[in-house]
Amino acid sequence: MALKKVLTIAGSDTSAGAGMQADLKTFQELDTYGMVALAAVVTMDPKTWSHDVTPLPFDLFNKQLETAISIGPDAVKTGMLGSEEIIKRAGEAFTESGAKYFVVDPVMVCKGEDEVLNPGNTDAMIKYLLPKATVTTPNLFEAGQLSGLGTLKSIDDMKKAAKIIHDQGAENVIIKGGKALDQDKSYDLYYDGDKYYQLTTDMFQQSYNHGAGCTFAAATTANLANGQSPKDAVVNAKAFVASAIKNGWKMNEFVGPVDHGAYNRIEKIDVDVKEV
Ligand code: ADP
Repeated sequence: MALKKVLTIAGSDTSAGAGMQADLKTFQELDTYGMVALAAVVTMDPKTWSHDVTPLPFDLFNKQLETAISIGPDAVKTGMLGSEEIIKRAGEAFTESGAKYFVVDPVMVCKGEDEVLNPGNTDAMIKYLLPKATVTTPNLFEAGQLSGLGTLKSIDDMKKAAKIIHDQGAENVIIKGGKALDQDKSYDLYYDGDKYYQLTTDMFQQSYNHGAGCTFAAATTANLANGQSPKDAVVNAKAFVASAIKNGWKMNEFVGPVDHGAYNRIEKIDVDVKEV
């Protein structure tokens, strides 16, 4: 049977733990055919690892989308997009592609950097992306921004934020508590518009987890493309990223990527799912 085609619209991370590189590796591990439309290139200062984000010229961005649309992806994922114009075009491209599934990872900051990429982007994501999203995958910070609730500190806060983001149009919402929730376990909160579920794994090392968020959203996209229900897609994506994080490794003094192949090559990790 032919592989399902999945398209990521995202930034490039030369260190390749995150961004479109993480997406492509994850798509490959999960038996899909990955394609890319690049929105920006992120480079790091070798001495300080501070990030520089360079958007691609809009015309060049758009030409890639036209190519990808002509191929006809089964599922589309967005990652770092960079400007309102690019966000709007990404939403249109999903519709024009005829793809069945749309996973919106509402990236607002690069990990380790605290500057929000462009404050206007939050409104643009709410307007152009969330109403089309099959699943959106904000982390705790992004969910606080999208919902307008600010700092989220508990599963109850996450439930409130998930409801607001669902009302903004996303069919399914998964808020990643990750390490930011500051608990002994790793909790994510999933809401399908009807029920809330808490997804839990052990908390693994937190030093070498570069690319965890991209990898989680990419795994969700591949799982949807392969016919899993949204709930199964996020539960299995959490298992995938948990293995990747547990086996994260040190690249240099600044960064350590997750191991995108750990789920298939090393171990599968159990995810506990309970309604809350
Ligand atoms: P982002 O990169 O967007 O901030 P996170 O790193 O918060 O995303 O989360 C990605 C996924 O990895 C989520 O399912 C989250 O719960 C999980 N996760 C993050 N850190 C850890 C950790 N140290 N151990 C286990 N799971 C983690």
